[in-house]
Amino acid sequence: MIQTMKYGPVKNFIDGAFVESETSKIMQVISPVDGSLLSEVPMSEASDLDLAVQSAKAAFKKWSATPIKERVQVFFRYKTLLEKNLVELAKLVEEENGKTYTEAVAEIEKSIELTEFACSLPQLITGELLEVSKGIECRTEYVPLGVVASIVPFNFPSMVPNWTIPNAIALGNCMIMKPSEKVPLSVGRLAELLKEAGLPDGVLNVVHGDSAIVEAICDHPGIEAVSFVGSTKVAKIVYKRATSNLKRCLALGGAKNHLLVLPDAIPGMTAQNITASMSGCAGQRCMAASAMVGVGNVDHIIDQLVIEAQKVVPGQNLGAVISKESKERIEAYITSAEKQGAKILLDGRQPNVPGKENGYYVGPTVIDFVTPDMDVAKEEIFGPVISIMRTKTLDEALAIENANAYGNAASVFTQNGGAARYVINNASAGMVGVNVGVPVPREPFSFGGWNESKFGVGDITGKSSIEFWTKLKKSTTKWNPEAGVNWMS
Ligand code: NAD
Repeated sequence: MIQTMKYGPVKNFIDGAFVESETSKIMQVISPVDGSLLSEVPMSEASDLDLAVQSAKAAFKKWSATPIKERVQVFFRYKTLLEKNLVELAKLVEEENGKTYTEAVAEIEKSIELTEFACSLPQLITGELLEVSKGIECRTEYVPLGVVASIVPFNFPSMVPNWTIPNAIALGNCMIMKPSEKVPLSVGRLAELLKEAGLPDGVLNVVHGDSAIVEAICDHPGIEAVSFVGSTKVAKIVYKRATSNLKRCLALGGAKNHLLVLPDAIPGMTAQNITASMSGCAGQRCMAASAMVGVGNVDHIIDQLVIEAQKVVPGQNLGAVISKESKERIEAYITSAEKQGAKILLDGRQPNVPGKENGYYVGPTVIDFVTPDMDVAKEEIFGPVISIMRTKTLDEALAIENANAYGNAASVFTQNGGAARYVINNASAGMVGVNVGVPVPREPFSFGGWNESKFGVGDITGKSSIEFWTKLKKSTTKWNPEAGVNWMS
């Protein structure tokens, strides 16, 4: 049966207008909620990218010369437009990504917070000035890089693009945005809203596509810097390719986040936080809890966790996973744990979701007696699944956390301040939580992991992003001739 598309075909956004790609290669955009056809997206060619880079280059001259206090006025207006269009934007995220409407609203709210931060950049980037010897002044300024690129994943169709668009552009850069081909619709709306907010044509260009266009971005001589958010496998490819072409690169990868639970943790609060962390956005968050390590006897907390997780119902307060392949992959992980000897306390495989039988749902899954050698303990599952391991001591639990290749987040649940501080000091993760299941630092604090969760220097949001999106100009000046010549002048 031929399905009709809910929306028209997705187009690139170049020089302030939606334009057809030169490619004949397209991909369908399917809603994970019910398997319906939403749109189709072009797999753009290098020639499409070239047009976008030319447009961005042309816009850079004027945009970079616009004072930052003027540039951020666009983002004050964009913030108001995000607020005004919140319901429509959230519905689009829900439709193309599959998360619940409530989660989609939270994603737009987070986009608004990110924009607020960008509006505050003039307060943060005042340079330094000092009279270094009589009549001689040294001064530093943050200068934009030029044309930059941002490559984003499927799991936050609005928030992750807003990690980079407001900061990079408010700091004076012009950007090529490459959305995930799985969720290409939201970014188009963001581009329209930015135009409505007064962003000049060419400052933001959107080029859709898959790995071929990402490779073209890494190779394009007109692009100065590449930021990437996605899986570790692709982060490594992008980091290597972009830096081998002498570009600045920051590439954020996947995650395997551990929650360490001590017997003194408050059972109800701990169980609720773990459940929210492992099942929020159907476990498709790079900050999601994926492994729990119980230190000593925490059976009473695990019992409570199962009760809480049972309240999470697919199709109601639990959204879909992104695709049929994802659903099959997640369910295969659960089966592999079962075969390797773990105990499934709550089984989310093949849930019955009335009215959404064609959607891609996996129910909340709690797996106990997992050992560190099992696949579910080692690999990123990216689904609503928590694997529980048990140790006798906190050091053994930390050794498990430290041994995993990733390093995005780790959390500890306890009422003991000394134990909490010990975990903050010794977890090998960039973001650590104490009695917090999803320790995302909020603006103005920066977001970024360690180890195989991030390649490159600095973080992608908050104050740290200023260093990534700018370079320092150092000037030394003398305007008083009577100062004569002194050392180093
Ligand atoms: P992905 O790596 O498959 O895709 C990310 C982007 O890379 C997409 O735009 C895609 O088109 C492109 N891409 C895919 N394969 C490529 C290839 N071989 N060569 C070049 N480009 C390629 O990631 P995803 O499935 O969209 O997103 C989920 C992943 O993102 C998870 O691993 C998750 O942990 C990670 N993630 C990390 C963070 C973080 O902050 N560290 C945040 C969000 C998501």
